[in-house]
Amino acid sequence: MKNPESAEPAEASAPPATTRARPAPRVPGQVVECGWCGAEVAVPARGRVPKWCSGTCRHRAWEQARAAASGRAAVTVVDRVVETVRTETVVQHHRTTVPVAVHPASAHEWARLLEELAVGLDTGRVYNRDLPVLIPAANALIDALERRIQRR
Ligand SMILES: [Zn+2]
Repeated sequence: MKNPESAEPAEASAPPATTRARPAPRVPGQVVECGWCGAEVAVPARGRVPKWCSGTCRHRAWEQARAAASGRAAVTVVDRVVETVRTETVVQHHRTTVPVAVHPASAHEWARLLEELAVGLDTGRVYNRDLPVLIPAANALIDALERRIQRR
């Protein structure tokens, strides 16, 4: 029986470190077709062989590959509702009560207006801010009435 310790070293020794040889330069003037649009793309002397003529074609190819992988169509047409502003002229009719100067034609009409004023003062329909105008007018009315009464 063979003693394993005395055995010959394994024949298959570790291979020498492979020195990656630099690839030979390419024949100049070669072109390849763009994978997306088919345009000619110059092959550089070294480095990768180009697949696309531009970043745009590379991106479009990537988008289509992604869409195909997801099972959806590459392009989905979606109708979107966009709100717009429409200017519309609306004519609105308003009925506004405008105070019109009243010219009483008789003593009864004067009396009715003066009573209306008195009720307005009592019920708050006449504002306090109007008192500086009303008080002198009322005093003048009373004075005129007293003068008339004394002349009788
Ligand atoms: Zn292209």
